[in-house]
Amino acid sequence: MFFKSNFSYSNSGSSYSDLLLEIDSGNIQSIYFYPRKREIDVLYKNGKKEKIPILYNDQLILEKATENKVELTINNSRKESSTANTFSSIGLFLIFVFAIVLILRSTSKLASRALGFGKNKSKFITIDEVDTRFDDVAGVPEAEEELKEVIKFLLEPKKFTDLGAKVPKGVLLIGPPGTGKTLLAKAIAGESGVPFLSIAASEFVELFVGVGASRVRDLFEKAKEKSPCIIFIDEIDSIGRQRGSGIGGGNDEREQTLNQLLTELDGFVDNSGIVVIAATNRPDILDSALLRPGRFDRKIEVMLPDLDGRKKILSVHSLSKPLEKNVDLGYWASRTVGFSGADLANLMNESAIHCAREKSKLICDVHIENALDKITLGIRTSLISSTNMKKVVAYNEVGRAIVSAVKNGIDSVDKITILPRSGYFGGYTKINPDEDIVSSGLISKKLLLTKIEIALAGRAAETIVFGKNEITQCSINDISYATNIVREMVTKYGFSIIGPVSIDNNTDISLGDGLVAKKSIIADNTYSQIDNEIINISKISLNNAINIITKNRILLEKLVDVLINLETIDNNIFKKITFDLLKI
Ligand code: ADP
Ligand code: MG
Repeated sequence: MFFKSNFSYSNSGSSYSDLLLEIDSGNIQSIYFYPRKREIDVLYKNGKKEKIPILYNDQLILEKATENKVELTINNSRKESSTANTFSSIGLFLIFVFAIVLILRSTSKLASRALGFGKNKSKFITIDEVDTRFDDVAGVPEAEEELKEVIKFLLEPKKFTDLGAKVPKGVLLIGPPGTGKTLLAKAIAGESGVPFLSIAASEFVELFVGVGASRVRDLFEKAKEKSPCIIFIDEIDSIGRQRGSGIGGGNDEREQTLNQLLTELDGFVDNSGIVVIAATNRPDILDSALLRPGRFDRKIEVMLPDLDGRKKILSVHSLSKPLEKNVDLGYWASRTVGFSGADLANLMNESAIHCAREKSKLICDVHIENALDKITLGIRTSLISSTNMKKVVAYNEVGRAIVSAVKNGIDSVDKITILPRSGYFGGYTKINPDEDIVSSGLISKKLLLTKIEIALAGRAAETIVFGKNEITQCSINDISYATNIVREMVTKYGFSIIGPVSIDNNTDISLGDGLVAKKSIIADNTYSQIDNEIINISKISLNNAINIITKNRILLEKLVDVLINLETIDNNIFKKITFDLLKI
């Protein structure tokens, strides 16, 4: 090895015959022979080193070298290469084994998946795994109370059964999106101290037909082992929809899953220590069998929060955020009528982002104002440069504000702006919805007519100021909004001369396997009556708006002037200007 590693070659380029002569003349010290490489390394007595090509297994050189007693080393390249070979074959072998293991593993995974795809992925969550507590849920005290009671049922069933009371089996949380249903369920998991099994209903139904039903079965089996425990099924409407009637009904995967769920709900005996809690924001589409007594017989409504609730939710979500001292969350609660808990959480989060963007240390009113604008109005885009455009937009917005002030009071106008926002054409007038109406959820004919008049007020103002032929498409969004409301009035709520009929354009006929056919059930005659009514109501509403604005022409001009100057009029300025001038 010494020889090899110290061998550096001269490039004198002796030939094979030269080498033979050199060997004969005794000038060669040693020869290093690589039969497989078909070359030799030659070390001359004068220290010169050389590589010379030879024939494979060259006998002549060997004979000559032995004859002249030249030190001859046969390079064990065979051995080297055989080691290499061994290594490579071991490598190959390892790769082979590895591949086999991989294949086996993936097939066994496949196999286990094939055998176990009916098992659901739900896990028992222990209290330690959930941080959510009832303290994190604000503004829904009734729901909270009822759920606490359910926990009591589970933990001390005897107290209730001794009095002959039945422990409820199913509790359905109903409410608009973002009101905190899932959050409440998490809080129960965090507070109850009983095992909590959570699954989204959509997880029941997957690619394979028949999986859903077996997953439901598996879920309840798991639950029975752990009782007392709580099963939580989120967004239950995705399997609990009304089962179709008509051709092929009862055949599709979702329906089988639902049937299995119904069976399981019936199957466990009262007081077996399992309570199923489900959440949905579409109780109207749930199958009636799901809602009958003995199944989800307890319904807990999780409503949009009221003023006080919004304030509490805002404070829950500003706990971890540094608020400036004079930020009044009560004020912000009053500015956010109709916001859900999720909207409010988003508001505080956006405020914190605005704050960070401006590199401030504390969140102050300006940040919250900007965040509110962003959420309700969209992101501000570049300014309108054309003064003509500014004017048109300003008349549109002020027109809406005036009609709203006349119809709903001066306080209803939260903000008018001509700063364009993405998603809106021109400016925006933010109108606070009425607290009572939001919380009662009642929609009156008067309320809808007012909405339509406000929506068409932009067009009304333009018509008054610029004349019938100079109107623009500025109010395009409002017109389509108004038309949608009018259509609902006529076809859904029975608020028109057509009468108290619900004219749902199509009925669904289930064809099985999730296929649904639409079938029209309206006579052509009724169609044209509907159209006439829609046009009629829209025109009358536009006229009403024109009348209101005509009466308030002076106020209109004044507000437009201010708006073009300031670009945004907030509630205070609006009140100041409007107070004396508004004619109702
Ligand atoms: P859903 O009713 O649609 O299930 P979620 O419970 O998922 O609504 O709410 C989404 C988020 O909104 C929650 O994670 C929470 O941050 C916030 N949120 C909603 N409602 C409330 C509430 N009542 N109190 C505090 N935060 C809430
Ligand atoms: Mg949810």
